[in-house]
Amino acid sequence: MAKGMLIVLSGPSGVGKGTVRQELTRRNSGQFVYSVSMTTRKKRPGEVEGVDYFFTSVAEFKHAVQSNQMLEYNQYVGHYYGTPRQYVEKTINQGKDIFLEIDVGGAIQVKEKMPEGVFIFLTPPDLKALRMRITGRGTDSATVIDRRMAQAVNEINLMKEYDYAVVNDQVTKAADRIEKIIESEHLKVKRVMKDYEKVLGVKHDYETNHR
Ligand code: 5GP
Repeated sequence: MAKGMLIVLSGPSGVGKGTVRQELTRRNSGQFVYSVSMTTRKKRPGEVEGVDYFFTSVAEFKHAVQSNQMLEYNQYVGHYYGTPRQYVEKTINQGKDIFLEIDVGGAIQVKEKMPEGVFIFLTPPDLKALRMRITGRGTDSATVIDRRMAQAVNEINLMKEYDYAVVNDQVTKAADRIEKIIESEHLKVKRVMKDYEKVLGVKHDYETNHR
């Protein structure tokens, strides 16, 4: 059976990853499953254990890291967040796509381990007008402008690690774009070639010659 695809959605903080992920999950009719992260932060009202996160203690989290149970992990405003490895591997081996919504630091760790994944960077809608917005207002101090520029440059540099940049101008539009990406990624020759080879009994490994 063909393996499932790993899809990683991330981007700068505050760009709306969570909202876009919720929209995709709402629409999703079984094409992918969502990887529930583990976190040491407190549960917010309305959040459900095992649905939004696996809420754990710092000691438990550290144990999971030490015993190689995490595909990646990172610290964000004083709390640990991480992706349990086993569920990701099991899902892919069952031929289902798995969807991760994680921060940039985590995504880069995943890319090192699973470069065949699809890495999608969600960008703020005003990225193109950023320079004007940063410098043009004329009201901010030079320090504030410098800090914002540095942050923007940093974000763009991180974007280079990704396969796709999706503007989050409207949640529904961003979700449409991501659905299209997933659809066409599934049609990539490097992903379907193995199936064809199997049917025809070809031994030749396409991947090794076309990477
Ligand atoms: P929140 O506390 O608002 O739910 O999430 C804070 C940040 O942690 C968000 O940017 C979210 O994308 C990120 N995050 C959630 N789960 C994971 C994870 O498993 N790994 C990493 N690296 N980041 C995560």
